[in-house]
Amino acid sequence: MFSQLPTVPDHPALEEEILTWWEERGTFDQLRERNRGGPVWSFIDGPVTANKTLGVHTAWGRTLKDVFQRYKALRGFDQRYQNGFDCQGLWIEVGVERELGLNSKREIEEYGLAEFARKCREKVAWSAQELIRGSKRLGQWMDWGNDYYTFSDTNISYIWGFLKLAHERGWLYRGHRSTEWCPRCGTSISAHELVGSYEERIDPSLFVRFPLIDRPGQSLTIWTTTPWTLPANVAAAVHPDEEYGLQENGEWVAVKRYPDETYVERRRGAELVGWRYDGPFDNLPAAEGIEHRVISWDEVTMDEGTGLVHIAPGCGTEDFELSRVNDLPIVMPVDEAGRFYDRFGWLHGLSTSESAEQIVADLAGRGRLVAAGEYAHRYPFCWRCNTPLIFRIADDWFISVEEVRPRLLAANATVEWTPAYFGKRMDDWLRNMGDWNISRRRYFGLPLPIYPCTCGHVTVVGSRAELEQLATAGIDQLEELHRPWIDAVEIRCPACGTEGIQRIPEIGDVWLDAGIVPFSTLGWQNPERVAGGYGTGAANGLTGADLPDHDYWQTWFPAHWVSEMREQIRLWFYSQLFMSVCLVDEAPFRSVLGYEKMLDEHGRPMHGSWGNLIPAEEAFARMGADVMRWQYCDQPPDRDLFFGYGPAHEIKRKLLTLWNSVGFLVRYSNIEGFQPTLDDLAAGPAGLELRALDRWLIARTGKLVADTTAALEEQLTYRVIAAFESFVDDLSNWYIRRSRRRFYAYDDAAFRTLWYAVVTGVRVIAPVMPFLADHLWRNLVADACEGAPESVFLAGWPEAGQPDERLLAEIAEVRRIVELGREARGTAGVKLRQPLRRVYVRGARLAGEHAHEIAEELRVDEVGFDRGPVAQVKLLPNLRVLGPRLGPKVPEIKAALERGEAEELGNGRIRVAGVELDADDVIRGERVDIPGWAIADDVTLSVAVDTEIDPELELRGRVYELIHTVNTMRKDAGLELTDRIVLTLPEGEDLLRHEDWIKAETLAIRIERGSSLAIAKV
Ligand SMILES: [Zn+2]
Ligand SMILES: [Zn+2]
Repeated sequence: MFSQLPTVPDHPALEEEILTWWEERGTFDQLRERNRGGPVWSFIDGPVTANKTLGVHTAWGRTLKDVFQRYKALRGFDQRYQNGFDCQGLWIEVGVERELGLNSKREIEEYGLAEFARKCREKVAWSAQELIRGSKRLGQWMDWGNDYYTFSDTNISYIWGFLKLAHERGWLYRGHRSTEWCPRCGTSISAHELVGSYEERIDPSLFVRFPLIDRPGQSLTIWTTTPWTLPANVAAAVHPDEEYGLQENGEWVAVKRYPDETYVERRRGAELVGWRYDGPFDNLPAAEGIEHRVISWDEVTMDEGTGLVHIAPGCGTEDFELSRVNDLPIVMPVDEAGRFYDRFGWLHGLSTSESAEQIVADLAGRGRLVAAGEYAHRYPFCWRCNTPLIFRIADDWFISVEEVRPRLLAANATVEWTPAYFGKRMDDWLRNMGDWNISRRRYFGLPLPIYPCTCGHVTVVGSRAELEQLATAGIDQLEELHRPWIDAVEIRCPACGTEGIQRIPEIGDVWLDAGIVPFSTLGWQNPERVAGGYGTGAANGLTGADLPDHDYWQTWFPAHWVSEMREQIRLWFYSQLFMSVCLVDEAPFRSVLGYEKMLDEHGRPMHGSWGNLIPAEEAFARMGADVMRWQYCDQPPDRDLFFGYGPAHEIKRKLLTLWNSVGFLVRYSNIEGFQPTLDDLAAGPAGLELRALDRWLIARTGKLVADTTAALEEQLTYRVIAAFESFVDDLSNWYIRRSRRRFYAYDDAAFRTLWYAVVTGVRVIAPVMPFLADHLWRNLVADACEGAPESVFLAGWPEAGQPDERLLAEIAEVRRIVELGREARGTAGVKLRQPLRRVYVRGARLAGEHAHEIAEELRVDEVGFDRGPVAQVKLLPNLRVLGPRLGPKVPEIKAALERGEAEELGNGRIRVAGVELDADDVIRGERVDIPGWAIADDVTLSVAVDTEIDPELELRGRVYELIHTVNTMRKDAGLELTDRIVLTLPEGEDLLRHEDWIKAETLAIRIERGSSLAIAKV
C-alpha cells in the first residue's frame, strides 16, 4: 500500500519533514560516502558576503550550485562541498558602522580599531550561522561547519604571497592618480567596483562666465554640472579645429552649439589657446598664484555644453591627465571626507553637495552666472554605502596589468562560458581594464604587507611566517593579521638593516580575498595537510576546515565549474583569473555558469524601502523551497528573473498535474493491490505483454531522461524544467487519459508502466526539487520495494536507454492533431462532449495508424487523411510591389484574388489572371470561413472538423452530458469509485435508446423513471 496523497501538497510542511529525516538518516553523509573515490568533480564556491541573513537573491545562486552538485553526485562524482564566506572589507565595515552609529572614519578611530575589528568578526560569525541556517532550509547540501572564511590568517597569508610575487615581477607600484572616491567611506573605489553603480541623478546645470583678461568686456562661457569643482578651476579647454564665436553680449561659445546666434567675431579654437581669464574663485586663498588660461583638447565634445570645457585637474581623471600634458597646477579642493580644505575660505568644511547652492548664489551675486538649471544624468554611487562618488587625486597601490593582459586573454579562451556572451564580456573587460587599484584607506580588511624603508627599498612580506622572521617589534601582540595589531609590528629592512620599518596603513581590495580562494582553500604549495588549518586568525573557532596539501590542490584545481551572477565577471571571476594566471598561468575554472539579475515579479528591482523585497524566510513559509528552486531553475540565464508569489502560484498550479498523476497511481494501486517491482526502474517493465501505448510511455520516459541529462550537461536548467513539464503533460493528458479504464480493473502492464514513468520523473527532477522528490520516492519506492535505496539521492541517475524515436514522433503528431482539432471545435463553438461526424487531417506524416485514437479524442466517427477542405486566407495584391511592375493589370489580379481564383504552384507561388506571382507579391489577409467546417492549422498540419450536428449526433451529445452530470453527482455524494447505483431519469427523456451505454458509464445497475434526475447507492 502506498500512502494516500492529500488533494494538494503542503510544500513547507513536507520540506520540514524531509529535512528532519535527512538529518536523522545522515542522507548527505551516506551520499558522500557512496561517492568517495569516484571520479572527481570540482566546484569552487564563490564566497557570499557574511553580513546578512539569506535573501532570495542569494538563494538563486545557491540553488543552481546545489542542483549541479546533486546531479553530479547522482552520477557518482566525488565532490568537496566547501562553502565560503567573504568576511572583511567595506561591506562588513559599513554594516558594523551603521549598527554602532558611527558616521565617519574619525569616529571609528575614536571608537578604537581593536574593538571595531572584534565587532566586525562578531557580525561575520552571526551572519555565517544565519546563512547556513537559510541555506539548509533551501535544501543546499554543503559541508557545513568546514566553511572557508576569507579573513583567516591562512587566506591572508596566501594573498601576501601573491603580492610578493607581483612585487618581484615589478608589477606592484604606488601611483598618484585621479580616482573615483567615496567621501563617506573615505577611500578610493576601483574600476571593477563601479560596475552597475550608476544611477539616475539630478544635478545643477550651470553656465558660468570666465572674463578674459586681455579682452575687456569679453568672456568665455563654460558649462558644468559639478559646482564644487569650480573653485579648483585652472583652465578652460577648446577644440582646436572647431569654430568659436563672440556673441553681441560679449560671450564666447562654440558656433556649432548655437548655430542660430549672431556672431560679431569668429575664430578657430586653436586661436583661442593661451588666452588668460579671471578664475571663478580668484578671491579665495587657494587660487593664489594660479594663472588661468585656455588650452587645446581634441576630446572637447560638440554634443553638449558650450564647447568650452572647465578644467579642474584635482577633480577629474581627464582633467588630471591634461594637467600633465599642459603643465597645469593641481588644486585639490576637498579632503578624504569630501569636505573643502581651509584654503577655500568660506567654503571650508562644506561637503561637495552642501556647497552647491552657496557656490551658485556666490557666482550669481558677482555677476558670473549666465544661467542655472537642472540636469538629469547617470552618475556613479558607492556600491557599498550609496553615497555619490567624487573624483580625488590620491596615492594608491596598483598592480600593473600590461604584462599579464595577453596571458589573461589566453587563459579566458580556455573557459567555457554559459551564456557564451559572458565570456565575450570578460574578454572586453580584460582588453580594456586599467591597472588594478588594490589599496583602500580603511580598517577591517586584508592588511597590505608593504613596508617601505627610508633607503628606498620596499619590502613586501610574503607570509605570516616571513613576517615573524623579519619582525623586530610587536609580534607578540599579533592576535590576527588585522589592524590595529598588525600596525604595531615593525620589521628590519633586509636591504640596509634599518629596524623599526612600519607597514603602510592601507588595507587591500576585497576581491583579493576572494580571488585567492582556488589556492588558499586547496592547499597550494602546502607541504602537508594541517587538520583544522583553515581556522586561523579571525576564523579561529568558526570553522573546522583543514588546510590541505599540494597533492590535494593538484587533484581539485582547476575547478570544473563555478557559478555566480553577471556582475562577478569583473569581480570574482576576474580576480580569480588574474591571481591564477599570475601564479600558475592557467585559468582557475574550466566552465562558468553565469546568470542575470533578479527583479520582482513586475520587473522592478527589489528594495527594502519599496516594500517589494521578499525575505527568504517568508518565501520558505509561503511558497516552499521546492517552488523557489523551480522558479530559479526555470529561468534562462541570459535574462532577468522576475521572482515573486505570482509566478510561484503558477508553478504550484503546474505541479498539481504531477501531483494528481501520482495521486491517481496511488489511489488505484491501493484499490487494485498493485505491488511495484524494483527491477522495473532499470528500463521499464519487462517480461509481459505491453500495449503500444505502454511502449510509447516507456520510450517517452527514456526521452525525458535523455533530455534532462543533456540539459544538465549543458548547464541549462530551464530546459530541464521544460522537458519535465512536457513529460508530465504527456503522462497525464495522454497516457493516463487514454488508459484510465485499464486501472479500474487490474492491468499489470498499465500499473507497472505508469509506476516506472512516474518514479523516473521523480528521479530526474530530484536535483531541482529535492524535497518533493524524496517525499514521493519514499512513498512510491523506498516503502514499497524490498531492498530499495531509502533516498532518491542514493539511487543514482536513471539510464536514458535508446528511445524509439519513430514511435515518439508518431504520438507527438497525434497529440498535435488532437490539439488542432480541439482548437477548431473551439472556434466553431462546439463543445468537446458533442460527437461529430468527421475530421479531415492534411499534412500528417506519421499519425496514419492512429486514426482510432484521434477519433476517440476528438469524439468523431471518422478520421480521414489528406481529404476535405484546407484552411484558406484571403489574398490581396501587394500594391507596393505589383504596382510598378504590372501597373494596369493590377485591378484584374485584385478582382481574381477576391473571387478566390488562384492556382497554387508550390513554394508559395500562385497563378492568378494568367500571371505567375511570388509569395511576396501578395499579402495574406484574414481567413476565409468555409461553411459547415472549422479548420485549425500550424506550420505543417491542418485539421478540418465537420461541424454539422444531425439529430442522431445531438442525441449522443445529450447522453454524454447525462453521463458527465451523473458522475459529478456520484462524486458530490461521496461515492467510492466502485459503488453501484440506481439511476432515476425524468419522464419523457428519449435517452433510453442508449440505456446500456449509460449504465456502463455510471455503474448503474438499473435505470428508473421519476420526476427528476437522481441517484441512489445500492
Ligand atoms: Zn561608500
Ligand atoms: Zn632600507
